[in-house]
Amino acid sequence: MTQRIAIVTGGTRGIGAAISIALKSAGYKVAANYASRDDVAKEFAKVTGVATYKWDITDVEACRQGVEMVSKELGGPVDILVNNAGITRDSAMHKMTPESWQDVIDTNLTSVFNMTRWVLDSMRERKYGRIINISSMNGQLGQFGQTNYSAAKAGIFGFTKALARETASRGVTVNAIAPGYIATDMVKAVKEDVMKIILSGIPVGRLGEPEEVARCVVFLAADDAAFITGSTLSVNGGQYMD
Ligand code: NDP
Repeated sequence: MTQRIAIVTGGTRGIGAAISIALKSAGYKVAANYASRDDVAKEFAKVTGVATYKWDITDVEACRQGVEMVSKELGGPVDILVNNAGITRDSAMHKMTPESWQDVIDTNLTSVFNMTRWVLDSMRERKYGRIINISSMNGQLGQFGQTNYSAAKAGIFGFTKALARETASRGVTVNAIAPGYIATDMVKAVKEDVMKIILSGIPVGRLGEPEEVARCVVFLAADDAAFITGSTLSVNGGQYMD
């Protein structure tokens, strides 16, 4: 069988990097997208052999061109889209700037539309596709200081379920993964005193590893995961049980 092609947004660092590596190991041709850290992307490509592509996922036209370029260079249409890239701009609502709100909504939610829009026609035509959206536990429970982030991540659940209904008869599955606290740059930036409080709330007693999220992506991306759609897979060490 020809190798399936996957795009991972924000695929050069943190959870995304682990996803890119895991999909490559599972036999996929992988394109790892990123935004600005050329140094990180270059090193990642050198070490892993994964092709890297720079474009801004908040720009819908850049996404269209990015998908087109990946298809051309990797030799076929995109079979698996992992909408992983995300940012935080935390602050209590009464201090939040309109920019912090908009940046997070654009990067974490609108980007999911921007990317999915350009892979969907071909998936529908070929009656095969996997769309995997990386949401967050904080979109399930709501988090202090994260009205922007929690709103964007909760929005992903609605998007996932609605699109799953639209594409179910076309062989295209759409699922969300909701990680809890995972040891990446995003979480390592949290202050030490706050980290202690976070750890005390995780029944498993530690942060998750990016690879623990990546293995869920590989599971959902598989051909034989065809009956799983519109679902949310929680990966949070027992911190939030739905
Ligand atoms: P990191 O900050 O480690 O990496 C973010 C990645 O996204 C980078 O590759 C970055 O590119 C890319 N990116 C950011 N903005 C854009 C953009 N506009 N266009 C293209 N790429 C962009 O994040 P994590 O690995 O921690 O998080 C990955 C996902 O998992 C996010 O959606 C996050 O919300 C979610 N998540 C993370 C949790 C955690 O504990 N870490 C918990 C729950 C969910 P560049 O390198 O160029 O900056």
